[in-house]
Amino acid sequence: MSPNAAPAAVDRVVAEIERMGARPHVSRGQFRTIIGAIGEEGTLDQNHLATLDAVERVVPIMKPYKLASREFHEDDSVIQIGGPSVPKVSIGGRHAACIAGPCAIENEQMLYRIARDVRDAGAVMLRGGAFKPRTSPYSFQGLGETALKWMRACGDELGMPICTEVMDTRQVELVEKYADAFQIGARNMQNFDLLREVGKTTKPVLLKRGLAASVKDWLLSAEYVLSQGNPNVIFCERGIKTFEDSVRYSLDVSSIPVIKDWSHLPIIVDPSHAAGNRAYVVALAAAGIAAGAHGIIVESHYCPSEAQCDGPQALLPDQFRHMMLQLTQIAAIMNKSFAHAQSKKAP
Ligand code: PEP
Ligand code: MN
Repeated sequence: MSPNAAPAAVDRVVAEIERMGARPHVSRGQFRTIIGAIGEEGTLDQNHLATLDAVERVVPIMKPYKLASREFHEDDSVIQIGGPSVPKVSIGGRHAACIAGPCAIENEQMLYRIARDVRDAGAVMLRGGAFKPRTSPYSFQGLGETALKWMRACGDELGMPICTEVMDTRQVELVEKYADAFQIGARNMQNFDLLREVGKTTKPVLLKRGLAASVKDWLLSAEYVLSQGNPNVIFCERGIKTFEDSVRYSLDVSSIPVIKDWSHLPIIVDPSHAAGNRAYVVALAAAGIAAGAHGIIVESHYCPSEAQCDGPQALLPDQFRHMMLQLTQIAAIMNKSFAHAQSKKAP
């Protein structure tokens, strides 16, 4: 629409799109409103739409991922996570955030200790698995709802929104009840039923990149969520499978500028699962922020040898603190700032 198009003109376009059998999607930007028409191209009379009042132009979005595309929404999307029991954290645009915690929630004492450590060093959101996707069915699978309850209480006490993985459509309702954001794990990036199910909620979705997924595949997975009405998707680059075996996965730093070019949605980086080794985690986090990522999700543990899952990649509290000081400086160069924990100091 032309800048400052009247609400009545917007309503008229919406009504015409509906009449043609397509689904309208109104996106109000800082300067202009963009109205998406989602449906078969053949059913839309573009010439007619172009003649409506205050329509500046009609642009067919040729990309298969439409709602996720930059053409659909020119400004960076800023996604808010949290509330009502915890302060909201913004991710996207100039807002960067650090999400940190253990790989899995193993007991209450370890959760609180790690959460306090990372919070005091600059993390504003808590991560941790209650349902773990393990390569072996005999490995620790997570504590399920018990872990979710501990996590909710801990997040509330420390003022940190919580993010946790949902592995199956049957868990969506339960995880939604406790978590502030869903994590879709790398192994589930193309679990289309699961994507649709979280797309029916309003909670933000941290969408990890599949182990062997192209950036286009990844954008189409985001489209599954968006197409169900949930606009809150955050990409997470966590490394892909390559022939390289010196690290766990190869962090594809190039996906960060590519996603930012092709999409309006934020992207963060997970240096922990990419490195698989704490010695390399800080360098990969730094590379991600330098490439323009809107934050990190990282694993930390005060005693990694005790961890039942991913101990070798968990940052020690000192390393974590040092990393946050470094990332704060890199973010400033990249014209972003890391959110700081609000109000109450960790007791
Ligand atoms: C995790 O975050 O603990 C995890 C299992 O990540 P990914 O799905 O990226 O392997
Ligand atoms: Mn892990």
